Amino acid sequence: MKALCWVGADQLAVREVPDPELRNERDIIVRVRRSATCGADLPLLAGRDPLLRSGDVLGAEFLGDVVEAGPEVRRHRDGDRVVVGAGVACGGCWYCRAGLHACCDNGSTEPASGDEGWGRSDAGCFGRPRAAGGFAGGHAEYVRVPYADVTAVRVPDAVGDDRALFAADAAPAGWLAAELGAVRPGDVVAVWGAGAVGHLAARAATLRGCARVVVVDRHEDRLRMAERHAGAEPLNYRHTDVSAELRDRSGGRGPDVCVVAVGQRPARSVVDRFGDRPDALREAVYACRKGGTVVVLGGTDGFVDAFPLGAVTDKRLAVRGARRPDLRDVPMLLDRMARDELRTEHLATHRLPLEEAPRGYELFRDRAHGCVRAVFSP
Ligand SMILES: [Zn+2]
Repeated sequence: MKALCWVGADQLAVREVPDPELRNERDIIVRVRRSATCGADLPLLAGRDPLLRSGDVLGAEFLGDVVEAGPEVRRHRDGDRVVVGAGVACGGCWYCRAGLHACCDNGSTEPASGDEGWGRSDAGCFGRPRAAGGFAGGHAEYVRVPYADVTAVRVPDAVGDDRALFAADAAPAGWLAAELGAVRPGDVVAVWGAGAVGHLAARAATLRGCARVVVVDRHEDRLRMAERHAGAEPLNYRHTDVSAELRDRSGGRGPDVCVVAVGQRPARSVVDRFGDRPDALREAVYACRKGGTVVVLGGTDGFVDAFPLGAVTDKRLAVRGARRPDLRDVPMLLDRMARDELRTEHLATHRLPLEEAPRGYELFRDRAHGCVRAVFSP
């Protein structure tokens, strides 16, 4: 089959690779209909992960049809159209039973790999290197999906492919941000980053009844998209004092909840050009009202300097983090998509055949031609 492989720093190629096969009784094989780029792919693409190997297949967000199912698969049959959550989780461990699929103890086939960097490894993930289990990703014709009853969710007929695709990762990540922030009716919410996840975090905040949600970015086209489709107020940091403006829009206090969903944004401050890039995180900590919550989604590989811990303690902030969403919200989000409450297809700004995926990643990386997400079809 054909698949998009990482073949070296900043080099991708569509190659012929062996078809996947069932390995365990709870596996399914999915024939991919759509797959999407993801911001977390970009550090991989640049070759910043030492565990990535030439030939690894990328793609964390995908949707397709079941073509084969192992004997212990209960929920899926051949022909079912399913979205596959980016995370690989067993459904039975202590964390999965608590709804924390992204923390699954059995999802990664390399469970010790995260111990040194993060204290404990998280679940597995498709299209990621061995630290996340080394599962081949969705930019391919076929994918093996482990723990299929947990990891894959049937798509209602009313939801089209381009909408349902984002129920795999971007929509549950956005929803999780609003949930971790405990967004309540009447809250003022600020979201840094108007990419797909920030956009859907803003939409989740409005669905939870916030009074206003402000999205902070520097790309006017993305800000307009968040305004039009997510009900957000745009704030371009290139032209505005962000903290002062947010105070003005929140009764002088600052937002109740601040979500940082910037992925790999270029650093604004001189300090941050020399290390990892917490500038948006620092701005969120400063802007957040006293007693508020700052939610950090993905975006960092581990260590940051110049983090204002004093502001966290002085202002009694809660800081919550998540690298990946859990799977538990996927059915609920698909239901909202079916009811037309949640629309995501506009995020697929570029649709390309799988053969042109390397060009799609260039568009996505460079944010060229208004690219928010490039979507590939085998
Ligand atoms: Zn588990």
